[in-house]
Amino acid sequence: MIDYHVHTKYSGDSSAEIGGQLAAAAARGIADICFTDHVDFDNPGGNFEPADLAARHEELKKYGGTYSVALKTAGGLVTRGPVIIREGAEISMARDPFCLKKTLAYLAPHELDFIIGSVHCVDRNDVYYPEYHAGKTKAEAYLPYLETIADCLPKYDFISVLGHYDFVAKCAPYEDRSMSADLSPAIRDAFERIFKTVVSMGKGIEINTAAWRSAPHWGLDVLSLYRRCGGEFITFGSDAHRDSAVANRLDEARELALEAGIPYYATFERMKPTLHRIK
Ligand SMILES: [Zn+2]
Ligand SMILES: [Zn+2]
Repeated sequence: MIDYHVHTKYSGDSSAEIGGQLAAAAARGIADICFTDHVDFDNPGGNFEPADLAARHEELKKYGGTYSVALKTAGGLVTRGPVIIREGAEISMARDPFCLKKTLAYLAPHELDFIIGSVHCVDRNDVYYPEYHAGKTKAEAYLPYLETIADCLPKYDFISVLGHYDFVAKCAPYEDRSMSADLSPAIRDAFERIFKTVVSMGKGIEINTAAWRSAPHWGLDVLSLYRRCGGEFITFGSDAHRDSAVANRLDEARELALEAGIPYYATFERMKPTLHRIK
């Protein structure tokens, strides 16, 4: 299993140490981890500094690309790992062309393995907060989020995968927050537009387990639609901002991908994907 969406203290909203995230990943059997700290130029609060990718690179150097740990057990020392370490970023996509410009300029000096392109705001309103949802039905709140993704994607041709298509559901106030392509015909159309664009660009999507929080998982119908639109690969991500969340519910994500008939998951090195059969 891989975890290709992990945050550390280099993200404005996490205080997790790299060492703690790696130890958690090794203990939970992760073979390949990618640190995807925020490079977010679309945050309305303006208090969210982009990740210091050079400082993180310096800190990661001491691991030499992999991490292993020897754990004391009743039966003696047991080695866990190696975990392959990748350097990535989660960038925010927005319709505002300045966001794209700033993101490209910021990333230019850095050599990354993997970039997640995510939408967090609709017209500068962060969908994480209840104010965004106030006075809207679930379908009314979710549709503009998906339309923003669909509009942004073609301009963000340097990303590796589309991040959390269901971020709008993560903290939504509805009794049933779950995302589905069946919420309305317009939502199904928006998903089709997103997935056809992703496929035509040669990109993938991630299955992000964080939006489920403690609710039952969802997404089979969305992933099946992705497959029908020609989607061939996904990445798995816990979106962990603390070590207890690393690898969270990725076993369920794998089951969903298998059930939706998606053949491959991808790992990335220097932005080049390698496909692996999902088993
Ligand atoms: Zn995100
Ligand atoms: Zn994230």
